[in-house]
Formats: sequence, structure tokens, C-alpha cells
Amino acid sequence: MGTNNRKLTAEQDIEWDTPMYKLAVTQLDNTAELMCLDPNIWERLRTPQRAHVVSFPFRRDDYSTVETVFGYRVQHVLTMGPTKGGLRYDINVDLGEVTALAIWMSWKCAIIGLPFGGAKGGVRVDPVPLSRAEKQRITRRYTSEIINVIGEDRDIMAPDLGTDEQVMAWIMDTYSQQVGHTVPGVVTGKPIELGGSQGRREATGRGVITCAEAACRQVGTAFDATRVIVQGYGNVGATAARIAHNTGAKVVGLADISGGIYNPEGLDPAKTDEWISENGTLDGFPDSETVTNEELLEQPCDILIPAAIQNQIHERNAPRLDCKMVVEGANGPTSLEADAILQDRGILVVPDILANAGGVTVSYFEWVQGLAQLLWTADEVSKRLGELMGRAFDEVWTTSQVQGVSLRTAALMLGIGRVARAKKARGVFP
Ligand code: NAD
Repeated sequence: MGTNNRKLTAEQDIEWDTPMYKLAVTQLDNTAELMCLDPNIWERLRTPQRAHVVSFPFRRDDYSTVETVFGYRVQHVLTMGPTKGGLRYDINVDLGEVTALAIWMSWKCAIIGLPFGGAKGGVRVDPVPLSRAEKQRITRRYTSEIINVIGEDRDIMAPDLGTDEQVMAWIMDTYSQQVGHTVPGVVTGKPIELGGSQGRREATGRGVITCAEAACRQVGTAFDATRVIVQGYGNVGATAARIAHNTGAKVVGLADISGGIYNPEGLDPAKTDEWISENGTLDGFPDSETVTNEELLEQPCDILIPAAIQNQIHERNAPRLDCKMVVEGANGPTSLEADAILQDRGILVVPDILANAGGVTVSYFEWVQGLAQLLWTADEVSKRLGELMGRAFDEVWTTSQVQGVSLRTAALMLGIGRVARAKKARGVFP
């Protein structure tokens, strides 16, 4: 641990001791060492300032079972303003995962320059078989369990894996009912009718493609001449695929939880959208080769966009990826070992904390519009998003060139550096 002679080991972090937390904290440790970060601040940033674990009863529609469900809300850094971060419903959610995601949110907000610290929430439940009524009950009870730690000036939630605009509307309603007046700012990613922003739904996917285009410019490739594979066909992945297709790139592979489809001649996202609206998943989509999710990642393409879940690119498949660039839509899709392999192989990786920051950026726009009672058009939102993401990409790119480090390390250096300076400026209380 070089410059830090204190014992900063994972043994001390037993509550969060999961692979994703280790990934986030090892990234922090490696970058802190490289930056010669003040050890006091370094240690402070390894664990979240607040972590809330709740368990609550959840009644299924059949009225016969009441399950105990676990929920989490982790707030990593409370230094720069309210905390901000998504809420995910997933069967594998645990404290370590939510903490890792909160840590990455801190760096993400700092890279873009947003006045937030990082947070994340999760409920350990499989969202796929939930009926609308079940999802609503889980959402309202979870909100009520954590009501004291959220708010438009405390901690603001947004959609993530397994949650959407409707879930945000239920959170806003539950919160507003309890405090006695309407508080749209407690969530972002709301329906437009409740104060949601134009362009929020598409923001993360749009930001992913903005970064892919910027990276192509830097390496002298025309984005519209590239072949793109997208893993994950939800909010982020489907939007990225549609925008890539509309921009002229060829989308040759897609996947969702049911598996992957590949066609070197190109797939039309309008047709896959139509298929999904009729059949629920990509499974059985005609005019394409059916592949597994794992196989899809190894099919030939120029740009691979993982936009589903974490740990999809690991040391076993990293040597076999057949792409020139990975643009991370998902959070934590690449393991540390895979990162090193891709770097050795000369495959450029645009890291999650930069590439998927479009969502939190437009969430910030939504929050600002709500507080100031403004209504920006879709064009205004898109233009501002492009400006902020473009600036952040250029800063990360320049740092990577100047310091001779990967884009991930450069992004971490920028994010961690800004949070550290903010912490230093505020000092220690008392
Ligand atoms: P989503 O729930 O809308 O979509 C997830 C997609 O991934 C679905 O198509 C699902 O079928 C697929 N999927 C799930 N498990 C899979 C598996 N094991 N293999 C292959 N595909 C699988 O979620 P989303 O909001 O699009 O989020 C996707 C990723 O992007 C997550 O890692 C999330 O943290 C990250 N992200 C989302 C946002 C946002 O604004 N929604 C912002 C930043 C980062």
C-alpha cells in the first residue's frame, strides 16, 4: 500500500466484503496510491458515510405468503450536497454491491462536476415475476422504511436495474403522502407528468454513444462505420442500440436475459423493439443466429457495449473478445483482471464512471428544473448533456494521455481528486 502505512485491508471491511465492493475499493486503493492521496482522506473514502439495511414484510398477490425482504440505501459521500443514486431490484443485491455502486456514483458525479455525493439503493428481489401490485407494495414499503434518510435536499433516488419511471412515481407519492405535501425532487427519472425531464429516459444510453463517438474520433475511426454489439436490452442497452443504429453504425448483436442474437449484416432495433413488445424478450427473434450471452460478447465487432449487469467481462473471456473498444454502459461489467488483459491487448475501455454518467447528468437537470420551476425542451437537455459529457470525456482523455494511464485510471484520478479536495476544504468536525 505504498504511501499509506496504515492497515487498510479488506479484513476490516467485513460487512461489505463482496467481489463488487472489493473491485470498487481496489480501484480506489490503486488510484490513491498513484496520486499519493492524503492517507486520511483515502481511508475515509473506502467506506460509506451512511449505510442503511432494512428488512420488511412483503405480501404476494395470493395472500398466502408473507416474505421478509432486505433493502439497502448506502450514502457514500455527504460532503458536496445531497447524495444521488439509483435504486435497483435484483435477486443478487447485497450491502457490498450497493456500497460499490454508491462509491462509483461519487466518482461519476465528481467527474461531471455535479453537486452531489454518491448513493445507491437496492432491494433483494427478482423483479421479473413481480406483478404490478407486488412491485408497488415493495416500493412503497421500502420507501417508508428509509423515509428519514431521503429527500430532495438529502438523498435523491433514480431508476436502475429492475426499476423504472413508475417505481419513481410510487416513491414520490409515498414520500409526499408522509411529509404532507408534494415533493417531486425526492426522485429523478419520474414520468414527465410528475415533473420528469425530457430526455431522462434516453440519457444514459445517449451518453454511452456520445462517449463511443468521442473515443472513435480520438482513435481516428468513423463511428458510423463501426459494428456494435450491445449486451442488455433495457433502458440503457436498448437506447444505446437505437441511437447507434440511427447514427449509421451497424448493430450486429444484442442480448437480454433470455440470451443473445447475432447478425453480421446488422439488426434493426425498431424490429427488435416490436418483437419484444409482442414476445417479452429477444428469444426467438428471426433472421439472426441465436447465441448465449457469453458467446455474444466474443462475436466480432468494433464496439462492445456491456449494458446489463456487473462482472460480464472477466479473465476467462477477456482474451477472446473480438472488438477494438469496450464502452461500459453497465456498472462494474469488467473485472480488475480483465481490465489488465484488455489493456495489454490494446482494447480501449471507456469506463462506466464516465460512459454511463449521462443518466445522473440528466437527473441533475431534472432536479434543477424542479427546484427552479423550469421546463427545458428535449433539444436543450440533449445539448447540455452533450456539452457536459463531451467536456468530461476530453478531461479524462487528456489526463490519460498526460499521465500515461488507462481511461479508467484517469477517470478515477479526476473523480477521486475532486472529492478529496472537497473533503479537505470542509475539514474535520469537530
Ligand atoms: P434494465 O432493468 O432496464 O435492463 C437490464 C437489461 O439487462 C434487460 O434487458 C435484462 O433482460 C438484461 N439482463 C439482466 N440480467 C442479465 C444477464 N444475466 N445477462 C444478460 N442480460 C441481462 O436496467 P438498466 O437501467 O438498463 O441498467 C443496466 C445497467 O446500466 C446496470 O448495470 C445499471 O446499473 C447501469 N446503469 C443504468 C442507468 C440508468 O439510468 N438506468 C444509469 C447508469 C448505469
